[in-house]
Amino acid sequence: MNACPREPEVVDAVMRGNWQQAPEALRELRAHAASCAACGELVTLAQALREDHAVVCRAADVPAAGTVWWRATIRARAEAAEKAVRPITFAQGLAGASLAGVAAAFAGIAWRTFPSLPQPDPLVMLALGLGVCIVIAPLVLVFALARD
Ligand SMILES: [Zn+2]
Repeated sequence: MNACPREPEVVDAVMRGNWQQAPEALRELRAHAASCAACGELVTLAQALREDHAVVCRAADVPAAGTVWWRATIRARAEAAEKAVRPITFAQGLAGASLAGVAAAFAGIAWRTFPSLPQPDPLVMLALGLGVCIVIAPLVLVFALARD
């Protein structure tokens, strides 16, 4: 089916809701829609969509203004709290990593300062480091991905 150049006019007139009342200005357009197959189908479709829109608007359950305000306030507070906590979480992670680094440095200094301490085997230290990573990695994921 070929498109008619008057289709936008027809859709506009139907969607304004005065197609049935047919003021004098629309008489010529209605006559065209009655004779043009494309515009005739368009009128039927546009009227169905307009009626469906009206039914859906009547059935819409719009909450009370107080409820909308209350929800918006709670959402704004939650977003502000989340925004404020982000740098604190970063600082806590940085402090934890720094603490682990300082502890490792003190352990290294202690082993070098006191030669009487038993010197660990490098493979044992490597296994111990991997074990710590395996234990700590899930905890880090849990804390990083937890939102509440
Ligand atoms: Zn037409």
